[in-house]
Amino acid sequence: MSRTNGPGKIFVVSAPSGAGKTTLCRLVRKRLPNLVYSVSCTTRPMRQGEVPGRDYHFVTREVFEEGIRNQRWAEWAKVYGNYYGTDGDFLRRSVEDGCFVLLDIDVQGARQIVARFPDSVTVFVMPPSVEELERRLRGRGADAPEVMERRLAEARSEMEARHLYLHQIVNDRLEDAAEKLYRIITDHGEPKPCPERRVNE
Ligand code: ADP
Ligand code: 5GP
Repeated sequence: MSRTNGPGKIFVVSAPSGAGKTTLCRLVRKRLPNLVYSVSCTTRPMRQGEVPGRDYHFVTREVFEEGIRNQRWAEWAKVYGNYYGTDGDFLRRSVEDGCFVLLDIDVQGARQIVARFPDSVTVFVMPPSVEELERRLRGRGADAPEVMERRLAEARSEMEARHLYLHQIVNDRLEDAAEKLYRIITDHGEPKPCPERRVNE
């Protein structure tokens, strides 16, 4: 994929798992229907309530690894033992079309995006405390106990990367945090309508 900076804008949101990034992004997307959400491809199993194509494109390891060989991914990472990646064509074309694109990706992926698209706006979402993070993860109840432990152990080291981001938001009161994210995005203008774009699964 070529290095390109079109007239669009990329917003990268990262957070330790359980900080409330998905919830926050969902709220902001409701207020900004023209904001394009980059649906990642992943090899992790689908969680209850998730919808393929809306939350993730669920792909096999073979498909993902072929994508690595073909340089399909604008960025990719292995997170908690599963592959996650952003489709390069999708992202490049969206930016070229002038879309505002929201990426919910981890720290490793954020680094790759910033290297490729240096104008990206990066946001790190922090939990109010590690204790609260643990409470939210347990409350979500989506993970097997050993996966949960792993997520908690990783959270501390992920939080050390927060200084690499342009903006930091503490997700204490959800509405306040959502308002901050909304303002960070709309400071760059109002997202304009964008064409629907399909990602191959
Ligand atoms: P992430 O995407 O960062 O892993 P989620 O958005 O799935 O996190 O949130 C983890 C859990 O915490 C969910 O059950 C969610 O409802 C809850 N949560 C999110 N934000 C808040 C908040 N500000 N206050 C209390 N609970 C929250
Ligand atoms: P979850 O399994 O909880 O949905 O996501 C686990 C982690 O993977 C989160 O930190 C999430 O931001 C990250 N993630 C989701 N999609 C991508 C992606 O396309 N690329 C990268 N690098 N990380 C991703």
